[in-house]
Amino acid sequence: PPSAPRNVSFSLIGTQLNLWWQPPSDHGGRKDLTYTVFCQRCHFLSCEPCEAGVIFSPSASGLTKPAVDVDGLEAYTNYTFAVEARNGVSGMGPAPQRTAPAVWVAVGHAAPVTVSQFVLTQRDDSSLSVSWLAPRQRSRTSVEYEVMFFEKGEEARYTVKHLLEPNVTLTDLQPDTAYLLRVRSITPLGPGPYSPEQEFRTLPPDTGALSGGVIVTIIFGVLLFIGLLLGLFIFCRKQGRRRQARPDYNTSGFDREKVWLKPYVDLQPYDDPSRGVLEFTKELNVSCVTMENVIGEGEFGEVYRGSLRLPGKERIVVAIKTLKSTYSDSQWWNFLREATIMGQFNHPNIVRLEGVVTKRRPMMIITEYMENGALDTFLRENEEKFSPVQLVSMLQGIASGMTYLSEHNYVHRDLAARNILVTRSLQCKVSDFGLSRILENDAEGTYETKGGKIPIRWTAPEAIAHRIFTSASDVWSFGIVMWEVLSFGDKPYGNMTNQE
Ligand code: ATP
Repeated sequence: PPSAPRNVSFSLIGTQLNLWWQPPSDHGGRKDLTYTVFCQRCHFLSCEPCEAGVIFSPSASGLTKPAVDVDGLEAYTNYTFAVEARNGVSGMGPAPQRTAPAVWVAVGHAAPVTVSQFVLTQRDDSSLSVSWLAPRQRSRTSVEYEVMFFEKGEEARYTVKHLLEPNVTLTDLQPDTAYLLRVRSITPLGPGPYSPEQEFRTLPPDTGALSGGVIVTIIFGVLLFIGLLLGLFIFCRKQGRRRQARPDYNTSGFDREKVWLKPYVDLQPYDDPSRGVLEFTKELNVSCVTMENVIGEGEFGEVYRGSLRLPGKERIVVAIKTLKSTYSDSQWWNFLREATIMGQFNHPNIVRLEGVVTKRRPMMIITEYMENGALDTFLRENEEKFSPVQLVSMLQGIASGMTYLSEHNYVHRDLAARNILVTRSLQCKVSDFGLSRILENDAEGTYETKGGKIPIRWTAPEAIAHRIFTSASDVWSFGIVMWEVLSFGDKPYGNMTNQE
């Protein structure tokens, strides 16, 4: 029999795995070498064979090439894969089969897939109902759908719908008109590609004689319409009044049936920043907050570990950022701005705001507590202790958080490992919102001073040269963060000066 295969390796994209290995050093003097792959699904230390839904291409056994594709894995699940080499005399003698050491694969989010197989389930002169094949969903990953549709030839006037199920009913359409529709699936990893355009046509208007029933329906319809108009009129007046008291934001140039990711609102439009804070954060009673020990020094003042006990709720551990008593106007403004921005986000990879204290001194921003602190220090203190899979899954978390921010039109401008916080379970969360940079104590020279502060080593060239900050420049910074993480917290560009 042959010896064991060598160097089993894998790459994982979403839930699709590609495994490959090197042939055994000893083929047993024969040419009929094949490989068999064994898959186990593991929960803590107990493993069981993988279910039938896990599909091996070309197959799990009898492989002649040293590679296999595996599909149908579940998101957020651990697997092991072991590869065995066999030949025509394997199993005939007393020698045991030799299997390469199993590789451990931790699957994260599922990647979105292209939606296909559209079926028109119902139509009339003003509506179309369409369903499509849901991607094979064996996991707890949430899959949602985005449908974009428009009248044929009117692409600029499209409407976007966001759905939880693989079907949609489009209403209020023109009779006897062709509509084009594209669908994409969205998972926590982001949106997949749009499907090819699908064309569906509404029925011509029904011109037959009106029956008594239809006439009654029309009368009811007209009455309902008048009622709706009245309701709409009252609603608009109320909204108008409310809007006068509140800054507006633009939801970009197309008709969105439902704005499912609304842009974040900055404090800028508020004459009085305290009003913006009130709108997006929760003012906490200071008696619910206990400060314990100092865990860091922030731009505005000391950061404490402490606890928060809200009435009727359990005590939770929190981090408390304080605003020092000698604050300047701009520090006060930036402090409130950071809380306002954080208060609008809700994502597992963004540090969660518990609330603020602005009515007493010191002012406080209270967030969830991240046991392992800032990512750069944490990595330096734990050099070489994490596997590449663990490091990449940290980066995956950061990427998820950043995707969420960019979907809300928020450009971070200061993405760096020092601004990522880490939980006990190594989950990474983006923090530090509202780059303001007074930074009297920037001893390391991280932030260049000329014309506003810029974290030079983390910033994209066009942002340094022309101050153009976009989600694309955040992606550049993410590249630098990848480098920081995989080098366990080394300084980007080592000992080069900022100028170099
Ligand atoms: P800078 O602008 O210099 O980054 P900052 O005012 O934004 O300062 P933070 O970086 O948020 O302040 O906090 C300073 C330090 O306090 C962090 O490096 C970290 O060690 C600690 N810290 C802040 N928030 C938390 C938290 N939620 N959980 C645990 N530690 C925290």
